[in-house]
Amino acid sequence: IDTKHKHYEVYVGSHIYESALSLYTHQLQKADHVVIFVDEVVANLHGEKLQKPLETISGKAVHVFKLPAGESSKAVETFMACHSFLLEIGCTRKSIIFALGGGACGDVVGFVASTFMRGIPFFQCPTTILAHDSAVGGKTAINHPQGKNMIGSFYQPEAVLFDVSTLSTLPQQEILSGMAEVIKHALISDQQWLQELLEFPSFADISSTQYLAFLVKGIQVKAAIVEEDEYEQSVRKYLNLGHTYGHAIEASTGFGKITHGESVAIGLVIALLLSEEKQLLDQGNARKLFEALTKFGYSFDSVLEHGIDELLSYMKRDKKASFGELHFVLLEQIGKPCMNIVSVEDVTLAHEQLRKWIK
Ligand code: NAD
Ligand code: ZN
Repeated sequence: IDTKHKHYEVYVGSHIYESALSLYTHQLQKADHVVIFVDEVVANLHGEKLQKPLETISGKAVHVFKLPAGESSKAVETFMACHSFLLEIGCTRKSIIFALGGGACGDVVGFVASTFMRGIPFFQCPTTILAHDSAVGGKTAINHPQGKNMIGSFYQPEAVLFDVSTLSTLPQQEILSGMAEVIKHALISDQQWLQELLEFPSFADISSTQYLAFLVKGIQVKAAIVEEDEYEQSVRKYLNLGHTYGHAIEASTGFGKITHGESVAIGLVIALLLSEEKQLLDQGNARKLFEALTKFGYSFDSVLEHGIDELLSYMKRDKKASFGELHFVLLEQIGKPCMNIVSVEDVTLAHEQLRKWIK
C-alpha cells in the first residue's frame, strides 16, 4: 500500500508469520518492548503462532495482553486498559505493538498505537475474513455509546500479516460477516465478480484457495481506493456502501449482538433499493441480492425489530451526514458507486420495502 506518508506491505498466505516477520528483524530487535494485544478467543487458538516466532526474531520476551473478544473490545475502557498496560511495562516510542484478532481488535489496537505517546509503530495480524477490509487502509476506532467508530484516527500500520490458516477456526456467523464486505467490494468494483460470488451455493463450502483469492481481490480493491484517497475526502467514501443503514442497525441492535458484516449485508440491500428508487440502478438488483443473502443464511430479523425513526436517529449521526442531510453511497451500475443525498422519505420507503420482503 502506497499512501502519501507511508508505504507498507500486506502479506497474505498460510503460516506466514515467521517468514514475514524475518523481513522486519532489524526493526524488531531495535525495539525496547514488543507487545501483542490479542482477542482473548484468538489467544487460545492462535496466540502461539505469532508469539513464538516474534520472540525468536526480536530476541526478547514478548508481552501479551488479552482483550475482550470481538466488538466489546472497542470500548473506551479497553482503550484505557491497553494504555495502562503499556505504561506499566515501561513502553516508550521505541516499542512496537501487534494486533492479533479480528477487525475489532485491529481497530482498538490501531487507535492505541496512534495515541500512545502520540504514536508508536504497530503491525496488523488479522484473523477474520472481514479483516481483509479492516486491517488495510489505516482507519482505527473505538465506539461511543451514541455511535459506532465515533472516536478514532487515520493511522497506517508498519505491515499487515494475514495468516489465512487462522481462518480455519472461524465460526459460520463470522464467515458470513466477513463475506458481506467481500460482496461490498464486488458491488463497488466488478459485476462479473459479484455474479460469481452470488452464485455460490453456500459460503461454508468455499475452499481455502477461493477464500484466499477473494481476500487478495478485496485487498486490491481497497488498496487502490486508499492510495487515491487516504483521508476519505472523495472515493474512499465508496467503501461505506451499506454502512449508513448498516451502522444504524448495528448500533440499535447493540454492538456485538449482531455482527458488523451482517449489519452491512442488510445495509447493502437498502443501498441497492435506494439506488433503484432514484432510478440510478436497473430494477431487480436489490431483490437479487436480497435473495442471494437469504440463501447464504444472513438474517434480516433486525429490520423487523427496529422502526425507521429509531434507525434514522443513528443515521443522522453518521460521519457522512452533514447539516442534517443523509449522504448515502449508492450505485449507478454494479461496479460504479456514487454519493447521493437521500431524503427521510426515500429511506423510509426502502426500509418498508425490505420489511415486506422479509415478512
Ligand atoms: P471481530 O473482531 O469482532 O471478531 C468476531 C468474533 O470472532 C470475535 O468473537 C472473535 O473472538 C472471533 N474470532 C476472531 N478471529 C477468530 C478466529 N480466527 N477463529 C475463531 N474465532 C475468531 O469481527 P470482525 O468481523 O473481524 O471485525 C468487525 C469490526 O471491524 C467492526 O468493529 C468494524 O467496525 C470493523 N471494521 C473496520 C474497518 C476499518 O477500515 N478499520 C473496516 C471494516 C470493519
Ligand atoms: Zn465495514
